[in-house]
Amino acid sequence: MPWNMRKGLVLAAGGSLLAMSLAADSISEKAKKLTFASIVMDTHDDTTQRFLDPKFDLGVRHADGSVDIPRMKEGGLTGIFFSIWIPSKITGQEAVKRAKAQIAAVQEQVKRNPKEVVLATTADDVRAAKKQGKIAALLGVEGGHMIGNDLEVLRQYAASGVRYMTLTHSGNDEWADSSTDKAVHNGLSDFGKGVVREMNKLGVIVDISHVADKTFYDALAVSKAPMFASHSSCRAICNAPRNMTDQMIKDLAAKGGVIQINYHVSFLSQEFRDAEKKDPSINEGISKEVKARCPDENDEACQLIEGDKITREYVAAGKLPRVEWTKIIEHIDHAVKLVGADHVGLGSDFDGANMPYGMEDVTMIPKITEALLQKGYSESDIRKILGENTLRVMTEVERVGRELNGKK
Ligand SMILES: [Zn+2]
Repeated sequence: MPWNMRKGLVLAAGGSLLAMSLAADSISEKAKKLTFASIVMDTHDDTTQRFLDPKFDLGVRHADGSVDIPRMKEGGLTGIFFSIWIPSKITGQEAVKRAKAQIAAVQEQVKRNPKEVVLATTADDVRAAKKQGKIAALLGVEGGHMIGNDLEVLRQYAASGVRYMTLTHSGNDEWADSSTDKAVHNGLSDFGKGVVREMNKLGVIVDISHVADKTFYDALAVSKAPMFASHSSCRAICNAPRNMTDQMIKDLAAKGGVIQINYHVSFLSQEFRDAEKKDPSINEGISKEVKARCPDENDEACQLIEGDKITREYVAAGKLPRVEWTKIIEHIDHAVKLVGADHVGLGSDFDGANMPYGMEDVTMIPKITEALLQKGYSESDIRKILGENTLRVMTEVERVGRELNGKK
């Protein structure tokens, strides 16, 4: 989740039906086949917020939002990391309690749909799920504030199946600086370095999306396993602090890591970002409208989905620029040119951010395959970007964990 409604940082783009059909580029049989034959991973998805409503069923197709089982199948998705997320300002026992409730909510959706989804914790689990024709559901905790300063809680999360933790969200936590807050720890505190070491031991991927640049470099120095950015894009194309500089992408890749490209319009497009900055009343207006449509201030799912819709209305009214889905391809291509196809993947931020035109939901993933084929990418490189790189990081993190525990 890239933004915090209450800070007034609602950022977005959008589309009418007409616009969607114009952007719905045709997908070749070759691209479809390749997508469906590949491991396709999405390392960041916020649909979890919707699971908190006991009436929500992942198993049926929804007219709103971006992710459900029918649409994941249609898009050829193999595995998805459901994000466990609460705002940075909630800390301590309350944060732990809410995070555990979200983990249980994901497990509940898996339980309700046993024929189609299976909980996965390893790269092998993901491959096994694909063989069985099921979607692999994985867990990632988005923000170190949810461990309540207690490594035992981190161990409990790992035992529940959590396989990555983003070190911060949009605010600093008690031991790490965020990219969108004022630095107070000079990166990672000593306790924060201990958290990274413990994550290595537990086989939990260190996720450096959201963190301050200094936190990234501290984590890179401490971590014995490759890290990833579960949902970040390239700062060279769009100058957002949440995105990675070319040097960071190179340094992440040099240690075996992967940048999973985020589809959020305000991380993809400089033009969009500039328009928001130029007129702060736009985001204020969007925030106000979100509050009106979602009176329960704890209903994050409503805020996220309505935020996307309202931003689309602003785009349709010409108040914000229209961002095309092909911007995602620009970011992928930039990172590939920088570090090669072994270090780039996909982390959509579906249901937690504002999607570009033509990437409204998970059914549209084969368009990425088509675009990369058209750019002349080899099938093997496309497979890596779609998901093999994510599985490689998972496998390596699992191996390091076993090694640190004195096992083979
Ligand atoms: Zn996020």
